Amino acid sequence: MTGIYLDHAATTPLDKRVLEKMLPYFSEKFGNPNSLHFVGRAAVQAVDEARDTVAALLGAKASEIYFTSGGTESDNWALRGAAHANADRGKHLIISAIEHPAVLETAKALQREGFSVTYVGVDPFGRVRAEDVEAAIRKDTILIGVMTANNEVGTIQPIEEISALARERNILFFTDAVQAAGALPLHVDAPHVDLLSVSGHKFYGPKGIGILYIRSGCKADKILTGGHQERGMRGGTTNVPSVVGIAEAFRLACDSLQENSLYVSALRDRFIRRILREVPQAKLNGHPTLRLPGNANICFGGIDGAALLFNLDREGIAASSGSACTAGTLQPSHVLAAMGLSEQDVRGSVRFSFGKDNTEKEADLAAEAVGEIALKLQKTGQ
Ligand SMILES: *Cc1c(COP(=O)(O)O)cnc(C)c1O
Repeated sequence: MTGIYLDHAATTPLDKRVLEKMLPYFSEKFGNPNSLHFVGRAAVQAVDEARDTVAALLGAKASEIYFTSGGTESDNWALRGAAHANADRGKHLIISAIEHPAVLETAKALQREGFSVTYVGVDPFGRVRAEDVEAAIRKDTILIGVMTANNEVGTIQPIEEISALARERNILFFTDAVQAAGALPLHVDAPHVDLLSVSGHKFYGPKGIGILYIRSGCKADKILTGGHQERGMRGGTTNVPSVVGIAEAFRLACDSLQENSLYVSALRDRFIRRILREVPQAKLNGHPTLRLPGNANICFGGIDGAALLFNLDREGIAASSGSACTAGTLQPSHVLAAMGLSEQDVRGSVRFSFGKDNTEKEADLAAEAVGEIALKLQKTGQ
């Protein structure tokens, strides 16, 4: 790839070391782990090892780790599965208004089934307030879901406080940790979570593979019926190469978490400083410090973010207007709207997300290009 890729929150390239580890499982080690013969047993061993690796990295038991088709399926399973399995205790759910569509749309679907959902708003920095969650709790609340860190503005959420509130009241706590995994330390006991979702392609692993952690004793129905794969909880022949890949990618990301996060946040800060200095009216969206290392979401006041992105694309710089899932629809960001930005500021906002392979030179070139284009668009009133 030539050009400068600043859209790591949408997806990341597969790490070469991960690819190497995956390759044999496409060909010579092609077995179906459900087969009882030696070919199948080799695959079982690889999947068991991957599950042990993921469990250890999350501080979980291997029996609490399920492999899925990605973050979206994990989010669906967590919310839908827990809601259905616990409906006898109540039918009220609390989630934040800034969740990923995989969570928001699932919550809406549950509402159509008769569940009631409270969507808790955020402060101007994009942070959920624990007291707002507390105020939303009812006698029939069965689950609280708040993401670990937001995908659009990068704001890290106070999930310690919120999970403690949930635990005191015997309410399940679910967190979408898709953006946090590999970027922030994660452990299922600190804070205490009952359900947690992760996706491979956000930390240099393969696409189409995810993880759902379900605490033992936490009831969650299966959503995919079929064979008895994943201990009877998710039918479908195991995607062995991707299972091997996500575990390796997660291990590598956790191994160099500190180092990568320092490096990436330094690049990101260098970029932000320069933009804020050179572009009048530019401001940073999200929290100044409690944010994901790679995220820079900037409001360019008055200009059209789509025009900026279009011009950047022509110069070989890839960024995004927010989430990849809503970007295609040109719908204004529900996250920026929940933070209280005006319609114009929402339209004028662009997300740049840095990764471990970006260089200082790229950050400087991108900042220069963004500055020039933004100034030009401000002058022409676009
Ligand atoms: C990308 C993302 C998802 C969806 O994961 P997929 O593996 O692409 O389905 C869910 N939640 C968040 C916060 C994400 O960033």
